[in-house]
Amino acid sequence: MSIFKRIFSSYISHKKVSIRNSLIASAALFSINTNGAFAASKNYVAVEPLTCDIVKSIALPSDEVICLVDRKQDVHDLKISPKQARLLKKADKVFTLGTEMTPAMRNWVKRNSTVVLGVSAIDIDDHSDHDDHDDHGHSAKKHDDHDDHDDHGHSAKKHDDHDDHDHHDHGGVDPHVWHDPHNIIKMGEVVSKSLKKDVPERKLRKAISNRFKTFDKTLEDLDKWIVKQVSTIPSSNRVIVSKHKAMDYYGDAFGFETISLLDFLGHSSSLRPQNISKVLNELKEENVKVIFKEQEPASKLVNNLSKQSSIPLSSNQIFVDGLMMEGNTITVAVHNTCTIVNELGGSCDETTGFDLASNWGSLNQ
Ligand SMILES: [Zn+2]
Repeated sequence: MSIFKRIFSSYISHKKVSIRNSLIASAALFSINTNGAFAASKNYVAVEPLTCDIVKSIALPSDEVICLVDRKQDVHDLKISPKQARLLKKADKVFTLGTEMTPAMRNWVKRNSTVVLGVSAIDIDDHSDHDDHDDHGHSAKKHDDHDDHDDHGHSAKKHDDHDDHDHHDHGGVDPHVWHDPHNIIKMGEVVSKSLKKDVPERKLRKAISNRFKTFDKTLEDLDKWIVKQVSTIPSSNRVIVSKHKAMDYYGDAFGFETISLLDFLGHSSSLRPQNISKVLNELKEENVKVIFKEQEPASKLVNNLSKQSSIPLSSNQIFVDGLMMEGNTITVAVHNTCTIVNELGGSCDETTGFDLASNWGSLNQ
């Protein structure tokens, strides 16, 4: 944790103590008048940076939303510190993507005060309003494959054997739902409903609904923007190859085939020659133009495969597990889309994309 962060968090906890004391005092002295502003102000904790961005965009500006985890931290690997546990305990509500993304939430998701908004909490979008894109090949059948990811065999045990900084085994269901903006809208619905339950005043509930409307509209605009950018990519180039299974929802929503290298290689045997040659064949067969790196510098695995296949690595990384160091939920979608579109031979209108990101940013200050 940076010094700034540390000072900031201690400031926050200090502030909370004084708010609490003043609440007690006012409750005692003015018990009739304390149902106003004080009582309405809530203390929320959002676990993942992405969740925090979503909650802040919908919650009333008067509510306190604490982001539990730093953007640098990979949430798959999170170990909850005693200090973080204290924040979780104190919160009026805790928002999280759930254990599929953040296994450390195992013991917390059972609590009544925890709200899960990830893959287990929403009906995954079936792209019914994308019917005109059927030429991209996302059929109902293909989508059904989403429901059983168990055949990929990533188990906790295998994870331990891996030598290539691979913390990306999310056993079971694929949690990377937010790569489809329609799924983010559904996640936002969960948040909005939950926040409204905490607010007795009709006027404030309405304010939350209005914030959700802007949220919804921005994501619909993002969706349309992505469709437009992707349409500039020659159809034979629409393949996203990356290290781990994270871009399937994106692929399904916008018409890409996705290949995740770890699924091919098996998580414990990445260097077995027969597996390597299986991957190399697949990449050749699919006429793959580029391998997208998920981290900077690229992982050893991805570097090796790029060398052996003579397929170049993307010059920028894509951010598959959450937010970038700067910006918000829209920023990362725009960055990923432009990286994909530009690398695969299309052309990306970044300016319009980043305008959407700043619309979102105005919700979130
Ligand atoms: Zn992941």
